[in-house]
Amino acid sequence: MGYRLNDKYPSDYEAKQVILEIGRRMYAKNFVASNDGNISAKVSDTTLWCTPTGVSKGYMTDDMLVLVDLDGNVIKGDSVPSSEIKMHLRVYKENPNVNAVVHAHPPAATSYAIAGLPLNHAILTEAVMGIGEIPIAPYAMPGTDEVPKSIVPFVNTHNGCLLANHGALTWGKDAMEAWMRMESIEYYALVSMYTKGLIGQANELTCEQVERLIERRTNSGILTGGRPLCRNCGSDGVPACATCNDDFGTREPAHLAQASGGIDAAIVEKIVRQVLEAKANR
Ligand SMILES: [Zn+2]
Repeated sequence: MGYRLNDKYPSDYEAKQVILEIGRRMYAKNFVASNDGNISAKVSDTTLWCTPTGVSKGYMTDDMLVLVDLDGNVIKGDSVPSSEIKMHLRVYKENPNVNAVVHAHPPAATSYAIAGLPLNHAILTEAVMGIGEIPIAPYAMPGTDEVPKSIVPFVNTHNGCLLANHGALTWGKDAMEAWMRMESIEYYALVSMYTKGLIGQANELTCEQVERLIERRTNSGILTGGRPLCRNCGSDGVPACATCNDDFGTREPAHLAQASGGIDAAIVEKIVRQVLEAKANR
């Protein structure tokens, strides 16, 4: 939904309509069950509309929505704001460029959140350029201050995150952007699950390919999203993989040796070689 040019915020009417629409899409796409999920959108520097607690997001009407301030005090509306509103308020406080937040429990992304696995492998060009890598916030007891605290490290550097054993959270300059990021996370998770889980193979992009995609992302004005892991050495934040030259396939996989902790690297190397030989002879 587009806003009038030069307006930083949507009107009350626009914000409420877009929240209702995202609620319907969220429910229709099976991103939430029952009364799960919540959406909020700022309409000024200090106020935002948010979804109520205890209501299916697929069937909301505008009289159910609540206007709150940045401390969560209700300004307008008869409903009780979502119990997870603290998480939204923390995102707004930490990053003033964020104007909307979406929280849902999409099944594939939530499965990664349960497995404790971030979405940080370079398998999809669109994911690298658009949503970026998706980190995972540590487990936090619902309804407590631990939840908002757990997401703080990502709010200024990424476009969304998984919440351990819970679901996913996205944010954006407006509600549609935050919602589309939620769609992108679920798509990224689903494709990761198909390739790595069901097919058992995912040809990851090289550091050089990733570097070029991130360059394009930066040029298009997206400065957040982090960097997926190097497919060879497993490190991130190393442009064009200065540490391993990404000569994947021609040397021992460094991440195996790296993951061995205190074990002698030579022993790991021997085991890896034996496994590879056994695999080749099968
Ligand atoms: Zn939730």
